[in-house]
Amino acid sequence: MRLQVDIDAASGFCAGVIRAISTAEDYLRSCSRPSSGAPAPVLYSLGAIVHNDEELSRLSALGLKRIDTLAEALPADRPAASPGEADIPVLIRAHGEPPQTYREAAAYGIRLIDCTCPVVIRLQKSIRDAWQRLEPVQGTLLIFGKKGHAEVLGLLGQTDGKALVVESLEQLEQLLDRPSGQGHAPALDMDRDVEIFSQTTKSPVEYRELCVLLEKRMKKGRLIVHDTICRQVSSRHKSLSDFAISHDIVIFASGKSSSNGKVLFDLCRSRNPRTHSIGSSAQLEKAWFTDGDRVGVCGATSTPKWLLEDIKEHILSL
Ligand code: SF4
Repeated sequence: MRLQVDIDAASGFCAGVIRAISTAEDYLRSCSRPSSGAPAPVLYSLGAIVHNDEELSRLSALGLKRIDTLAEALPADRPAASPGEADIPVLIRAHGEPPQTYREAAAYGIRLIDCTCPVVIRLQKSIRDAWQRLEPVQGTLLIFGKKGHAEVLGLLGQTDGKALVVESLEQLEQLLDRPSGQGHAPALDMDRDVEIFSQTTKSPVEYRELCVLLEKRMKKGRLIVHDTICRQVSSRHKSLSDFAISHDIVIFASGKSSSNGKVLFDLCRSRNPRTHSIGSSAQLEKAWFTDGDRVGVCGATSTPKWLLEDIKEHILSL
């Protein structure tokens, strides 16, 4: 089968993920092993450093160990360390963490290697500032994001969990139409101030739709819309859209748990119905391709470039 295969030049890790991964690699390389029989170095990562199983396996072989709670980093015989008692390094990934994590680390004596993306740090600060304005006037802070996503949990933590999270236009409509009172969570009060922020990797089009709806429904309150989608993500939407249209078939690679991967895959499929989502080259199916196809290979902000190259090689060998 004759196929032409192009890799999307803009696909691959975003700056925040590159920074977190190279910090982990540098740390692990810098840990010298005193003798060949000495245990391999370990660096704990609080949550998956990137939503991509292939890349996680590569980093795990270097010594990066995923934990889901800080307590898991403590030795079994010492469930609670004293501050400064031991040097247990734990990496905070690009998504960031809520303030509670920093307090817990200090209590356990854990040393944090903080790789929160600078864009996320700015967003967390903006949310803290907005909450200081809104709380005294009983206003609402809205976050457009995926409930339970690590970045969103970090953002919610800036308001002590008091912000409202909406995942879609439909959820916002339900919130706006929900009466307040017995048995109901507080409705969104449009007579009071509202400020809205977006998770950095959400779709710019959907965010705009949400903001337009809010504008229409505001009453006496003041609405402030914060433009917080990461530029690396918003600019990728336009270029990926053009990339999908200009190819006969699109192979989109990303991890199943990648929020950004879901958004970008949906975008590609809306532009090119012959878009297939895979996690690795082993999932490629020969039947998808037709002789003479121009194939586009692309991925999310959590998809490594080496994986895109690997997929290209496999397609060419079909
Ligand atoms: S998508 Fe943007 S904000 Fe999020 S980690 Fe990457 S560079 Fe940072």
